Amino acid sequence: MAENGEPIQDLAHLGYVELLTPKPDESLWYFTDLLGMEEVHRDGPSAYLRGYGDYAAFTLKLTEAKQSGVGTIAWRATSAQALERRAQAIEGAGLGIDWADGDYSKGRTYRFRDPDGHAMEIYFEQEKYAAPEHLRSTLRNLPMKFPTRGVGVRRNDHLAVLCQDVPANREFAQNILGLHLREQVIFDNGATEIGSWMSNNAIHHEIAYVVDVKGASGRLHHYAMWVDNREEVLRAADIFMDNGIFIEAGPSKHNNSQGFYIYSYEPGGNRVEVYTGGLWVFDPDFETVVWDEETRNGGVHWGAALPESFLNYATPPV
Ligand code: FE
Repeated sequence: MAENGEPIQDLAHLGYVELLTPKPDESLWYFTDLLGMEEVHRDGPSAYLRGYGDYAAFTLKLTEAKQSGVGTIAWRATSAQALERRAQAIEGAGLGIDWADGDYSKGRTYRFRDPDGHAMEIYFEQEKYAAPEHLRSTLRNLPMKFPTRGVGVRRNDHLAVLCQDVPANREFAQNILGLHLREQVIFDNGATEIGSWMSNNAIHHEIAYVVDVKGASGRLHHYAMWVDNREEVLRAADIFMDNGIFIEAGPSKHNNSQGFYIYSYEPGGNRVEVYTGGLWVFDPDFETVVWDEETRNGGVHWGAALPESFLNYATPPV
């Protein structure tokens, strides 16, 4: 979205996501043993994890909590100046909280909330991951060896959050944060915005805002990690089945985003997607794609329909 006639390009990408879990040991097992992520740090109730392709020291923070759900959603700015500019804009919008020292491996951080109340932050300084000897890849441009266990998710990709008022949150993301609007689902002849998919870069969407059918606020629909191909999504299905993990939907293909997906529930209750395919957006004046009741087809291009739980279940449950 434009500011002084120019698009805002102050956020580089989704930095990290914090998931809350009432079953920290089981959740850690799911992400490390089954998805193949690496634990790099521990601090009190939180474990810090990464995919083998992530350049940052960590991209997923798993925190023990009474209830499941999403904690902090963090964005990396494109520069120190960009961080200052976004902090000022958020402050001006009345949604700022404060400046903090920054989490493990991150520098000075500006904390705020989106209009629905999700905790967010922006930082610029980021320590790159330095693999210990036994995890060093022979590829000079790969931050870490491909894991020898589990699915082997490559990197953090996106998350979908629920909110009471999609337009308010979408407008905040566009006008204040500077995210680009990719796709929308709008029902009732253009009157009801069901969901909006947005990104800072060529990744189709880094965050989606979808209406919370229960009228709650601050909830998570799902968190998604990227794999390189469909075969790895199928391998995730085999690994989940062998280990008693509930597969809610897929492997199938979405119509919006074109993503090839499998959705499971990690032991703490959060919905986790293993994802590939998807379209990349390089067009600087990309025209938002809008789906209505007829074209939406329940979000599925081919494969089984998404179950009722996909519409009704989110974390924390209400
Ligand atoms: Fe997704």
